[in-house]
Amino acid sequence: MIELINVTKEYGGTPVLKNISLRIDEPGIYCLLGRNGAGKTTLLKSVAGYQNITGGEIRVDGKPVTTAALETGVSYIENFARHFNLPVRRLLRIASRMNPSFDEEFAWEMTERFELDGKKKFNHLSLGMKTMVSTIVCLASSKSVILLDEPVLGFDAIMRVEFYEMLAESFRKHPRIIIVSTHIIEEIAKTIQKLIIIDKGTIRFFDTLQAVEEKAFSISGLKNEVDAVTEKLHVIGQDIVGGLATSYVYDTLPADAGLSVEIQRLSLQDFFIQMVGHKGGKKS
Ligand code: ADP
Repeated sequence: MIELINVTKEYGGTPVLKNISLRIDEPGIYCLLGRNGAGKTTLLKSVAGYQNITGGEIRVDGKPVTTAALETGVSYIENFARHFNLPVRRLLRIASRMNPSFDEEFAWEMTERFELDGKKKFNHLSLGMKTMVSTIVCLASSKSVILLDEPVLGFDAIMRVEFYEMLAESFRKHPRIIIVSTHIIEEIAKTIQKLIIIDKGTIRFFDTLQAVEEKAFSISGLKNEVDAVTEKLHVIGQDIVGGLATSYVYDTLPADAGLSVEIQRLSLQDFFIQMVGHKGGKKS
């Protein structure tokens, strides 16, 4: 279980995490979605105990996280491997020796599946392959919390598909909390259950993907009619052109909502764009 209570983090007086409270208590694959600079890495590193926070408290499985803790229940995809320029198979053996609960069978199986050359030194691998080795080590660690920071950077399209399969397989084998940060949502949508949106150091959204599918809509038409339909709904954004408007809502629609206006479901990408306010328009 992960708990963040009023967490703040500043770099040189500039707030990067702003009073974040979040509780993740169910096993699942979670997507941490945010634009570049939103605070994803800072949040994940703080949960992993890689850096101290400025205020508040973080607990993992009930224990406070500090940078002083040698052993935590968290595995963070920090490139452990880059510190050792050794052949891949030796790296896996070291990882296994350092961690008695390391799932060697999973690690070797994944190494074969991704055709990683066990004899090749880590620094001679491509960026994608390096990330793959680090991800395998992270997932094989059998820890109760797995944090993968932008893991698909450097992967080609086929590696990305295989990566999502590996993630799902790892979760089936060891159900636990796996958080994957990304700024591209659509590809990972089939693999994840819950979505956390972070924007400028604040959590803007935390719910299931199913909730987004059921409650995220665009409503278009004459502005006064759109405004009448959305008056009591949670509006997350609005575009206005002349007398026409499109409002973006996250809510349960009344049965008669579509009589005078056009209603469409929002794609995940469009929902994200509205939540983090890329476009102009009214924000709630
Ligand atoms: P993300 O992972 O969402 O791209 P980060 O957590 O890496 O975002 O960064 C959030 C903000 O904090 C950015 O503005 C970044 O420049 C700043 N930042 C990150 N690390 C440091 C640091 N060590 N010192 C100063 N500023 C930092």
